[in-house]
Amino acid sequence: MKSLTPYIRFGKQSETLLINQVSLGRENNDQQVFKFGFGQSPFPVPKAISDALAKAASRKEYMSVQGHPPLRQAIVDFHNQLEDKNWQADEIIVGAGSKILIFSVMAAFDHAEVLLPAPSWVSYEPQAKLAGHKHSWISTRFEDRWNLTAEGLENFCINRQDPKVPLILVLNYPNNPTGQSYSARELADLAVIMKKHEIIVIADEIYGLLNYSYPQASIAHHYPEGSITSSGLSKWCGAGGWRLGFIHVPSTLGAELFQAIISVASETYSCAPSPIQIAATIAYSNQTLAQEFLGKQIKLLKQISIYCTNCLSDIGIKAHPAAGAFYLFPDFSFYQEQLKNKGITTSDQLTTTIMDETGVALLPGSAFGMPAESLTTRLAFVDFDGSQILEKDYKLAEFNKLKQGIQKLTQWFLALD
Ligand code: PLP
Repeated sequence: MKSLTPYIRFGKQSETLLINQVSLGRENNDQQVFKFGFGQSPFPVPKAISDALAKAASRKEYMSVQGHPPLRQAIVDFHNQLEDKNWQADEIIVGAGSKILIFSVMAAFDHAEVLLPAPSWVSYEPQAKLAGHKHSWISTRFEDRWNLTAEGLENFCINRQDPKVPLILVLNYPNNPTGQSYSARELADLAVIMKKHEIIVIADEIYGLLNYSYPQASIAHHYPEGSITSSGLSKWCGAGGWRLGFIHVPSTLGAELFQAIISVASETYSCAPSPIQIAATIAYSNQTLAQEFLGKQIKLLKQISIYCTNCLSDIGIKAHPAAGAFYLFPDFSFYQEQLKNKGITTSDQLTTTIMDETGVALLPGSAFGMPAESLTTRLAFVDFDGSQILEKDYKLAEFNKLKQGIQKLTQWFLALD
């Protein structure tokens, strides 16, 4: 058979999944690993919800591509009440995770440009490429909490080569990889530019319920006509493997776009798994359960975030405490000279060396669209078992492994010449 190489798209595996494999490989060799690379919720799915799934196991029929109507209604009731959204059930599309839905939005366009703030989650760029779109990165600064500014967005828009092509901006908050979120003021300022340039925003709110200042400010409050919001069960409900997400597509964007997204969905995953949709209906119908569960998670995550940030800042490493989710995005440039003496000038070299010498797994900033030489990494502070959280009031003192990992990391920097 002749080589297919010139005809194959690109086959890179997502960096977050790769780091998990490297970590597992080390563990299989009896080497200790501090898993700050892979960001998976450490919390269990609440029992009432997993019981609902067990009960629904016999639901074997295909459901509608758009999603089970009672689930769509439960989703809008939940978000309208808790977050002051103004959604209708017929504007919701349920899918097998929000990831495929974000891709479906991109793929619904024949021709578009995708704009990504750097840093951004690892999958948006490959998705834009798979959808056949040009993509552009827009840089952000530590001083702005790695958030996109209205000024930066305006500068980008006025310098666009082809301003007629629809611009899809992916805005994610709380953010993976930075753990940061936007204030209502920042979103209002961004909305002015979005309106002016008729930008289509994909507001990735998959960590929205894990915003430590819940209910969070949302771009949909300021720019409802152009904001497509995505979320789902993966993060707040600890159910990433269940693959249940949704998007809200406002009717202002028109029936054609809606139908095009449904068409991508129907030609790919058909529908989200039926038993999961039934269980998700229970999850979104029980606000008291969700709020109790979220309150406990947030209390704990906030403490851990502050602990980690303080340990890093004590030795000169710049990091903002998380505003939500479970990520920090430390900037190690304070140690630039010492790292250079060790032959380390990129975030890739930095994370590989730290992993080799300490067993601490981090993801390089370059995986998130940062320039190779930016000495930034993502630190996911979830290397602990959250399975007892519903029964017990956790104390930070009990997080020995996580603390040990942070100590290993800070000691490694302090030992640099
Ligand atoms: N968006 C961000 C920023 C994420 O971190 C993730 C999952 O890691 C997703 C979207 C995808 O979530 P889902 O499990 O709903 O596909």
